[in-house]
Amino acid sequence: HKYVYDFAEGNKDLKDLLGGKGANLAEMTNLGLPVPPGFTITTEACKAYLTTGREPDGLAAQIEAHLESLEREMGRKLGDPQDPLLVSVRSGAKFSMPGMMETVLNVGLNDRSVVGLSAQAGGNDRFAWDSYRRLIQMFGKTVCEVPGEEFEHALDEAKRAKRTQNDLDLDADDLRGLVDAYKKIFAKHTGREFPQEPREQLDLAIRAVFESWNAERAVVYRRQERIPADLGTAVNVVAMVFGNLGADSGTGVAFTRDPGSGAQGIYGDYLANAQGEDVVAGIRNTVPLQELEQLDKKSYDELLDYMARLEEHYKDLCDIEFTIERGKLWMLQTRVGKRTAAAAFVIAGQLVDEGLIDLDEALHRVNGAQLAQLMFPRFRLDHEFQPVAKGIGASPGAASGKVVFTSARAVELAAEGESVILVRRETNPDDLNGMIAAKGILTSRGGKTSHAAVVARGMGKTCVSGADELDVNVPAKKFIVAGQTVNEGDVVSIDGTTGKVYLGEVPVMPSEVVQYFEGSLDPEHIDNPLVRAVHRIMTHADAKRRLLVRTNADTGADAARARRFGAEGIGLCRTEHMFLGDRRELVERLILASTDEEREAALAALLPLQREDFIEIFREMDGLPVTVRLIDPPLHEFLPPLEQLAVNVAVAQERGEDVAKEEALLAAVRRMHEENPMLGLRGVRLGLVIPGLFAMQVRAIVEAAVACAQRGGDPRPEIMVPLVGAVQELETVRAEAEKIIAEVTREKAVDVLIGTMIEVPRAALTAGQIAEAAQFFSFGTNDLTQMAWGFSRDDVEGAFFWRYLELGIFGISPFESIDREGVGRLVRIAAEEGRAARPGLKLGVCGEHGGDPDSVHFFHEVGLDYVSCSPFRVPVARLEAGRAAI
Ligand code: PEP
Ligand code: MG
Repeated sequence: HKYVYDFAEGNKDLKDLLGGKGANLAEMTNLGLPVPPGFTITTEACKAYLTTGREPDGLAAQIEAHLESLEREMGRKLGDPQDPLLVSVRSGAKFSMPGMMETVLNVGLNDRSVVGLSAQAGGNDRFAWDSYRRLIQMFGKTVCEVPGEEFEHALDEAKRAKRTQNDLDLDADDLRGLVDAYKKIFAKHTGREFPQEPREQLDLAIRAVFESWNAERAVVYRRQERIPADLGTAVNVVAMVFGNLGADSGTGVAFTRDPGSGAQGIYGDYLANAQGEDVVAGIRNTVPLQELEQLDKKSYDELLDYMARLEEHYKDLCDIEFTIERGKLWMLQTRVGKRTAAAAFVIAGQLVDEGLIDLDEALHRVNGAQLAQLMFPRFRLDHEFQPVAKGIGASPGAASGKVVFTSARAVELAAEGESVILVRRETNPDDLNGMIAAKGILTSRGGKTSHAAVVARGMGKTCVSGADELDVNVPAKKFIVAGQTVNEGDVVSIDGTTGKVYLGEVPVMPSEVVQYFEGSLDPEHIDNPLVRAVHRIMTHADAKRRLLVRTNADTGADAARARRFGAEGIGLCRTEHMFLGDRRELVERLILASTDEEREAALAALLPLQREDFIEIFREMDGLPVTVRLIDPPLHEFLPPLEQLAVNVAVAQERGEDVAKEEALLAAVRRMHEENPMLGLRGVRLGLVIPGLFAMQVRAIVEAAVACAQRGGDPRPEIMVPLVGAVQELETVRAEAEKIIAEVTREKAVDVLIGTMIEVPRAALTAGQIAEAAQFFSFGTNDLTQMAWGFSRDDVEGAFFWRYLELGIFGISPFESIDREGVGRLVRIAAEEGRAARPGLKLGVCGEHGGDPDSVHFFHEVGLDYVSCSPFRVPVARLEAGRAAI
């Protein structure tokens, strides 16, 4: 079995076997680029090690053989006392898992070869001893689990003795002393001396990289990112090259285009006389890559040539790590580079122009999440504004406001009309009201799945989490950042896309991409590369997609906006939203009516109001289907709160007032009170229990359609019955509706479809029967998720989902992205059985998932006809439906 591949044997398509880093090192080697020689131990060797607890047979011999050929090629032997070969041992899985696994540098150094290394470096003792102490530190920490702080303390101690803050002030003798101190720490914690045998160092380092696949942070990261747990990591053993050998050496990173904007040019950073880790640690300031031209023209020209070749070869933006050792350029890593949302679109468009990729490929390279980001307003940033801290962009958007530190204060100030930013170390469920009241949320701790991040995303509220430069002191109502104190009431601005935090109010500008969708920017005539790229890719997505995209809208204004954004009809008009505000009282009267007269009066008052609503909507969506859902309120939303009412009655009684009417109301509310309103009298159940309610709505819909048709319009109403679980429910409603339709359309013929939501698991499981009575299905995946998981959709996200995400039970809330295996299975069953019973049955989805990129792909796969989502998500759904189809 072949477990080890020389770099010359692999290629970029072997990521499964060689990991991303190994596959790309092999690719560069084969392109003839100067990659330090080395070899890759496969993910299969790792998997074998992890299942059996020992290296698989033959691995040791293969490593030996590859090491020997590496030694031959380099003309040096690993750890040789006179002229040592040193290697780095680097993890590299199929999917990038930044910082999750281990790396050990300078393997091969020991008490004797450190002298040889110094000679190799032209008598540079300081360099040699510094390299040795780095090995003991990294090896001790990652291979032998010696607590890292102990080494840090010893280093601090050495600097204190020298009265300096800077590592570079430690000379060779200081570092030799530090090596002794490190060795003692190593021996104390491991019960053995630091291994002097180079091959033993190598084997232990390889084993440690294998094991780091199962380090706790790696396990959690994989669960969250949905990276399969059984892939294993490859291990790259690479000859060391040194960027810290003097002024003619250095290290840097380069991008073949600007990963921020996508603009063509030379982007990167360079640090002379340094190693890669120094760049990351930010010990000294880097210089722009262009300055390398002055420092070392030969290497610079060579690098530019390689960058052009890599981009041509990968047909994409590449990022590169390189090192220059005494004037010789080495390529240490490349990969298709990460980029901002704007750059993703711009670069895809440019690559099409350059003939490197076609439009299908361009569409493949952008995604709906990026498009959604481009639709948020952004800060207008000029040089005046410098960020004071950078956290994690946890929920996109741009928000400015007065700082508050408690939920209560946020609610208070917001009620006075102030914009506030809630600042906490981290949030918890008690902060919910404050989070709702705030314009944005800023925390100093926690990542993308912290409570603050999850809840803010759920609310669509701007959030920066984990801004750890902030020293937040809630009791003192202040935080300190960059030496400045920010008190309650001071204004800050936070950017939920970049994670940057600014003091003061940064002006906000609208998104050009939204202006384009709104129709106020003409893509052919403006000189904005982003808008042009978006236009081009969206046009292609529309040409390719099979899924139609409708919108969820219940006002004429929303319908009009969604139509401009490309909606092809309304998939869900929630009529209960039309009963809020002043009309709430009419509904209350209807629900609580004790006589036929009372009820009929309430209905008669509602009918014309409803009809006007529908006329407006049909007009905006003329010629396109409009699915109107009959009322589906959880009852409690329309009734006065029971406790409040009880208190009022008691107080009035106390005062001796006449409370007969209030008592009657209280009794009625008590009678209707439900412990679980979401599972109670809602949807079709309400229509079956309250006589005349659905009939009034059907009449309003059909009369509105007839009115529009009489004025020459083309209304396409579809009546949808919510919360059906049994075909009998639907049949009962349908029979009544058909009578009304027949009567109202006698004046003017209008086609009216009658269908149902599939949002109760029983409906999905009996879809064959239900399809007999339904002309269309629309999946209500919000309720379907709620009822399939038994998660209250109004409670769980703020209460405990953060913990589920932290534990990796799911990587994303099932209310946000469809749970394919569970809820998705119900959708699949209902789609198949529904269409078996009624061929051509029209199928759509109108839950929140209709605008979620990943879910759109799923709905495409199961063969739905359309997705329906909020107006702002319509472009995202169009794009993803296109991507799903290619
Ligand atoms: C649903 O349940 O998915 C749905 C669209 O209906 P609502 O969100 O109004 O319950
Ligand atoms: Mg529902």
